[in-house]
Amino acid sequence: MKKKAASSGGSKGRRTQQVEDRKERRFEPIRSKVATLTLIGTGLGGLALGIGIYAQWLAVHRLPYAPWIVAGGAAVLAAVILWGQLAGAAVRVGDAGLAVERGDSAPLRVAWCEIDSIAFQDGQAVVETKDAKITLRLDEHPAAVAWLVKEARARIPSKVKIAEAQMASLPKASESDGVVVAVEATQVTGRRCRASGKIITFERDARLCARCGEIYHVEALPERCLTCDAPMGDEGD
Ligand SMILES: [Zn+2]
Repeated sequence: MKKKAASSGGSKGRRTQQVEDRKERRFEPIRSKVATLTLIGTGLGGLALGIGIYAQWLAVHRLPYAPWIVAGGAAVLAAVILWGQLAGAAVRVGDAGLAVERGDSAPLRVAWCEIDSIAFQDGQAVVETKDAKITLRLDEHPAAVAWLVKEARARIPSKVKIAEAQMASLPKASESDGVVVAVEATQVTGRRCRASGKIITFERDARLCARCGEIYHVEALPERCLTCDAPMGDEGD
């Protein structure tokens, strides 16, 4: 029985996880109408401005209505700047908490154990930690918001500040939402064990609370997670 606990490869009943065993769901943003209009407006406005400038000042035969094309293109671009909205980033929700992708650089990640509160206001989920505030728009990330709230209620229920009435207005999480992926390597070396304060030197020594993501040195695993009180240890499942 002991042998099983030492073997690698995550199983559902595990209460601690090794770094490489973690999974999460990845969600692409839904482009809102405003974001689509912004994209189209930028293209058309830029095109009109270019054509207008060419027709007014560069073309051999100047078009009489060229100034109107320039003005029209400029007006569209001004509207885009004033009211436009860019499509958001893809996000991930799972064992490692919440992650917001940032193009080529590593995603912005907050572990469940770092989250101080999750609220819902003005059509967006608001996640606050000691030093970050992340918002997810419901119209852009309905499934991600549903999963964020579902997982948070299971993992860190005391941090979820959403009234029942608001909860009813949120979409329900479905197994078919998003794409399940492995959590990309996250930095655990150099971090401190929550129980002993010892710095984790080797990734293989790190054990993460399967519920809240708190980090422990394998030799200092407590009976229960010091952050979320989940039972720890690999036996008995
Ligand atoms: Zn925990």
